[in-house]
Amino acid sequence: MEHSYQQVLERGAALVTGGELPPCPEAEASLRCLMRGNAQYLDHSRNAAELTDLIRLSTAHEGQHPYAAVVCCADSRVPPEHIFSAGIGDLFVIRNAGNVMSPAALGSVEYAAAHLHVPLILVMGHRGCGAVVAALQKHREAGALGELIAEVSLGIGHARDPRQAERNNLCHSLETLGQSEVLRDLADRGRLGFAGAVYDIRSGAVELLVDPEPSAEDR
Ligand SMILES: [Zn+2]
Repeated sequence: MEHSYQQVLERGAALVTGGELPPCPEAEASLRCLMRGNAQYLDHSRNAAELTDLIRLSTAHEGQHPYAAVVCCADSRVPPEHIFSAGIGDLFVIRNAGNVMSPAALGSVEYAAAHLHVPLILVMGHRGCGAVVAALQKHREAGALGELIAEVSLGIGHARDPRQAERNNLCHSLETLGQSEVLRDLADRGRLGFAGAVYDIRSGAVELLVDPEPSAEDR
C-alpha cells in the first residue's frame, strides 16, 4: 500500500497525543532516511554503513548526533542498525523484550529528544514477537519478567490474533510516550515527530503504521 511519510507521522501523532501536531519536516526527512536504509538492506543483505576508525574518533571527540531514536524489541533477529543500514552515531536505540515503554525506556527517549535533539521517535514491533506470544498465551513468569509480560498483556488488550496483538502492543507503547511532558512540548513546537512500524523477521521489510485499523491481510 502506498502512503506518504506525512500520513505515517499523522498516525504517530494521533497515537501519542490523541490529536494533531504541527508539521515537522526534520521528522519526515529522518523517516525517509530510515526507509532508504531499509531498502538498501533489502537490496544488499549487508550493512555498508560507516564503521571506520574515522567515524569512531570523530564521534568520540565531537559527540553524537543521531538522526532518529528507535525503540524496538531485544530479539536477536531485530537488529535496528542492520535493518536501517545505520553506522556509528546514526541511531539512538532503546531495546527490551516486547518494546515496552518502561520508565527507563521513556527516560531514554526523553534524553534522545531533549538533549540529542533527534527529530523522530520510531517505535518498532515485529512479527513473531516472543513477548507478545507469552502475553497472548498468558504465561506466568516470576520476577521482573512477569512484570514485563504483564505490561505487554496490557498493551495487547483483548486481541487474540498475533498480528493484531503485535500491533496493539506497538500502539500502546506509542500512547505511553504521550505521558511525557518533555516529548509533548517538543512535538507541540514542531521539533519532534512519532512513527510506528512492524518489522517482518522473514522478509527484512519494515512496514510503517498508517491506518487506525489493521488491513484484512494483517489479521
Ligand atoms: Zn520481540
